[in-house]
Amino acid sequence: MPALSAPDLLDAWEHGLGRPPVEQALALTLAAIPGASLTAVAELTVGERDARLIDLWEQSFGSSVTATATCPSCAEDLELVFGVADLRTPPSPPAQRLSISCAGYEMKLRQPTGRDLLACRRFGDFAATRAALFAACVVSARRGADEMPAAALPDEVVAACDDALAEADPQADLRIDIACPDCGHAWEATLDVVGFLWARLDAWALRLLHDLHLIASAYGWRESEILALSPARRRYYLEAIGG
Ligand SMILES: [Zn+2]
Repeated sequence: MPALSAPDLLDAWEHGLGRPPVEQALALTLAAIPGASLTAVAELTVGERDARLIDLWEQSFGSSVTATATCPSCAEDLELVFGVADLRTPPSPPAQRLSISCAGYEMKLRQPTGRDLLACRRFGDFAATRAALFAACVVSARRGADEMPAAALPDEVVAACDDALAEADPQADLRIDIACPDCGHAWEATLDVVGFLWARLDAWALRLLHDLHLIASAYGWRESEILALSPARRRYYLEAIGG
């Protein structure tokens, strides 16, 4: 994908500002796929969406990612630097329907999409949200000749379905290996692509708006005129006014 312009990136930030993460993800994915409709973007699976957000990160902020973590063994705060390439998993197979058999149940499943996540927001607590999202992923559940509702499935079957869905779309359940340089403890952490990208974008946008304010105050130029300047020229003017 081509890199987004500063105004486009700033627009995406503004659309997601103060919104829940699922809506921020939609705003960012819309920006990452120029010309895509909201309906089409909402139909992406979580893994497909996150793959595009990782592309957006790389185009906008470069190919390295800095994160912080606290070692669960010695409580040391760590700064981690890794490559964007480490966040990409092999593409999921195109078939997004899964069939599994477990404990006498025959299950047909599909991956959750952005639309499912949006629909589940109205369920307040975590357990209810999780149950609603799981129900959305169950295309059919049979025990012998009987069709079973998702809510009636035993925990063992639900867990097997969760595992099968995660395995089929590893980009949606991104994990990174971390080793503590102080005590040697190694562990696997889940990386929230949307939260991560949003935090980086938020810091970038606030910095840019502050720079716009300084330049506009000094020279009286319009926001659009200052945004049209290259980053190198903006930096020059900021230095010239002591910003
Ligand atoms: Zn440690």
